[in-house]
Amino acid sequence: MAVQIYNTMTRSKEEFIPQEPGKVKMYVCGPTVYGYMHIGNARPVIVFDMVRNYLEALGNEVRYLTNFTDVDDKMIRKAEELNITVAEVAEMFISAYQEDLAGLGVKPATMNPRVTESMDKIIEFIKELEDKGYAYENGGDVYYRTGKFANYGKLSGQNLEELRFGIRVEVDSRKENQEDFVLWKAAKPGEVHWSSPWGEGRPGWHIECSAMVREYLGTTIDIHGGGEDLKFPHHECECAQTEVLTGEPLSKYWMHNAFLNIGDEKMSKSLGNGLLVKDIRARFKAGTIRYFMLSSHYRNQLNFSEEALLSAEKSVERITTAAGNVKHRLELDTDGAEGAASTQIVERLAAIVGNFHARMQDDFNTPDAITALFDWVSLANLTLADNDAHSADFAALLKAFAEMDSVLRLTPEADEEVASEEVERLIAERAEARKNKNWSRSDEIRDELNALGILLEDTPQGMRWRRK
Ligand code: AMP
Ligand code: ZN
Repeated sequence: MAVQIYNTMTRSKEEFIPQEPGKVKMYVCGPTVYGYMHIGNARPVIVFDMVRNYLEALGNEVRYLTNFTDVDDKMIRKAEELNITVAEVAEMFISAYQEDLAGLGVKPATMNPRVTESMDKIIEFIKELEDKGYAYENGGDVYYRTGKFANYGKLSGQNLEELRFGIRVEVDSRKENQEDFVLWKAAKPGEVHWSSPWGEGRPGWHIECSAMVREYLGTTIDIHGGGEDLKFPHHECECAQTEVLTGEPLSKYWMHNAFLNIGDEKMSKSLGNGLLVKDIRARFKAGTIRYFMLSSHYRNQLNFSEEALLSAEKSVERITTAAGNVKHRLELDTDGAEGAASTQIVERLAAIVGNFHARMQDDFNTPDAITALFDWVSLANLTLADNDAHSADFAALLKAFAEMDSVLRLTPEADEEVASEEVERLIAERAEARKNKNWSRSDEIRDELNALGILLEDTPQGMRWRRK
């Protein structure tokens, strides 16, 4: 069985072959942390978590990176508005973001590099571009010389002429050409800044991903993901920056999720229709939100509505009830789960699970994979009503269910597992904070854990936790 992925770069479905067998390097552009996660942002978060889960379920070791943009214009404005520092804004929203991830049943990334912690690497990258003639400085700003990258526009399918025509912004006299983009911005008086060969300033947006990928994953990654709005200019610029230096593709496969709209309206923060995940998850379980997101193919537009969530809730209930009943029945039976399941069950389960995998491997066709899950629900309900069924049948049913649900994570059991991972992550972060004598962060994490209903216990064997 081979996974087929629709590669935005080649505009076709291709067999997925990681560069190193069994190892996948994956990077998904993360948020600028100046506000709470809205339901649109939750789409790539859930989609790429599902992709990662599936590749892991196939036995791959996935190194999954997603960054935090913790300094930029929006961050600076937010800090002014709240009268706190940019670092405080970042801390506040990264923390909230991570709670949202856990509340969506999303596994923590292998690593979340931050701009402010990767500054040396970013500056080094820009310097190399400048030294090789791909970047130029003007008045403390540094720009990328777009015309020097012959393939500029290849991802979004535009050529430089078309791009020039499309640029309607006011002429910026600091740029040699209007399609050049900024790599480094000189700091305005009073703004947060870092020292660089071009004076005090901070990075432009696109450069961080190129620098982080190179530093933490290497020259070419296997999968690069994000929402479709990132194709141009962001991902195009990432390719340009990296590929002129390495001569190699930045990523073998490019995946982009389509947008989530509110009703039939395009979602945007300025329209005020940016529904927040923290509010939605106070009313709906992770499994329900995930079901809603995954019941459409990731490359199709998706309309958000209250009714859609309520209907997702009902569907998940049917799945959870069937799974719960099978489990209950298995616990009640005293004949043990030894012995073989009936041939009929074995064959039907093989067909259902086989179909599930075939759908998932066809560019992650989750709506059809969910249909396979409902075939399982029907079989489970039939078997529950069958007086001749025995424990081995239920054990086989449960095993098949777990195989599918570990990928989609629609049930509370799957949530619970992720919640535990988030707790472990917070405890490790707290230990690190204490080691660095960062008592305020340590207290903050204790409060966060407390809010999650977790009690910490210091034991001679180390820190333990339990639910209140
Ligand atoms: P932003 O915070 O706008 O930079 O977005 C972070 C991630 O969410 C990016 O991958 C965006 O493409 C994605 N995104 C933002 N809005 C939506 C939306 N309405 N639907 C789907 N993805 C979105
Ligand atoms: Zn990026």
